[in-house]
Amino acid sequence: MKLMDENNVVKIWNEVLKILENKIPKSTFEPWFLPMVAQSYDENQFTVLTGHLMAKQIIMQQYYSVVIEAFENVLGKNINFNMIVDREIMKKIQKEFQKQEKEEEKKQAKNSSNDSKYDNLKQMQSFCNLNLKYKFENFVVGENNKFAYEAARTVAMSPGEKYNPLFIYGGSGLGKTHIMQSVGHYILHNTDLRPKYIKSEEFLNELVQCLIRSGDTNTKMNSFRQKYRNVDILLIDDIQFIEGKDRMKEELFNTFEALYLKGKQIIFTSDRQPKDIGELPDRLRSRFEWGLLVEIKPPEFETRVEILKNMSKANVVDVSDDVINFLAEVYKKNVRELEGAFNKITAYSSIYGTEMTVDLAKKALNYKENVRFITSGIVASEVCKYFNIPEKELKGTGRSQKIAYARQVAIYLAKELTNENLTSLGEFFDKKHSTIIYSYEKVKADLLTNKQLEANISDLKNIIEQN
Ligand code: ADP
Ligand code: MG
Repeated sequence: MKLMDENNVVKIWNEVLKILENKIPKSTFEPWFLPMVAQSYDENQFTVLTGHLMAKQIIMQQYYSVVIEAFENVLGKNINFNMIVDREIMKKIQKEFQKQEKEEEKKQAKNSSNDSKYDNLKQMQSFCNLNLKYKFENFVVGENNKFAYEAARTVAMSPGEKYNPLFIYGGSGLGKTHIMQSVGHYILHNTDLRPKYIKSEEFLNELVQCLIRSGDTNTKMNSFRQKYRNVDILLIDDIQFIEGKDRMKEELFNTFEALYLKGKQIIFTSDRQPKDIGELPDRLRSRFEWGLLVEIKPPEFETRVEILKNMSKANVVDVSDDVINFLAEVYKKNVRELEGAFNKITAYSSIYGTEMTVDLAKKALNYKENVRFITSGIVASEVCKYFNIPEKELKGTGRSQKIAYARQVAIYLAKELTNENLTSLGEFFDKKHSTIIYSYEKVKADLLTNKQLEANISDLKNIIEQN
């Protein structure tokens, strides 16, 4: 195998770049192609180093054939093109960016008097928009969240280097915001980097303000962009909110590109996976999925107990194991609710000056015994209220789409939430066993693809379980 010397490799690459420069849009060519370093060439394969995984993905997916053609022009033959992501190169590029930024900052400092902007931590905190009660130290790690926790720790230790972006998803009240802000908190207190936290909703509001306020929209847009593109770590909470907001998607995409290019860390949270966020353009979806996706699930019993114990420690209140076990038993799906219940009972006992017992806790929380004793009757009545249809229709054979839909939902929920067997369900809904099974299986299958159905079922479950 004949290896060309290093000089030749560089020469070949420069020739290829000359061709590519005219074939690839500047906005892609400059940031992605120029910083690459030619590494080796054997008879079949040319290898370059790049600082960014994203560069590799973009080029391999979208420009591979253009690159190969350029090589063919230069070398007179067809070869393979290979890209290796290399940390050193990435660091070099980052340094270059930092140098440029510093120079810009210096210029700005000369022009304005707010150069002491980050002088004290307080101002810095307000810039970061962080709630400092959310720290790694008071986050309880369990089976349900340990991957998210580990990933967040890694990101906090070496932002921009490994999992970028980090995408954390899971149901409401499970600690997504807590863990995301813990990263910001850590960075703020242990490094000179500037994190910034923002809820998607606020991001959109600011954007809209820029667009609708009278005056020079361009200047406002520029300052909006600068604000988000000059941070070191951007934390964007509840990104599912982006659904249906095209202008926001575009702006977010551009912000993402700008930060990613500089090797800055981005973290997203969402109540669902990128693939379940509706109307997401592929390019944005793939950005979300490029780094690491981690899920937070509802905590197990032991973790719930641990969270409550931590709360009693932090609030310096004594809560007996019985009461803790009782709370952990009742509030299974949402840490926010678990905390809410804890706060309620401790407030109650301090107001009444009594020691907290399980009975008192039940009273304070207005807890009804057997609340989870759900029957087909309860399910049917809630489903009918929800869809606004008369109950007798549910048991009838009417085939209007709305009624048939509600009927299937009711059967599905009754089978899921009650302890009733097929005979009893069949009797209640006045249907054959096979119809009950068919309805149940159909809803179960449709749930995988039908978001409307999923939302209806989840609403109804909440309503019925809290009844
Ligand atoms: P989400 O953003 O997922 O809706 P949050 O991060 O707002 O949830 O969490 C809700 C509440 O529960 C917060 O007060 C948070 O501190 C607390 N919490 C959630 N998970 C944990 C945990 N593992 N350890 C300690 N507190 C937690
Ligand atoms: Mg949240």
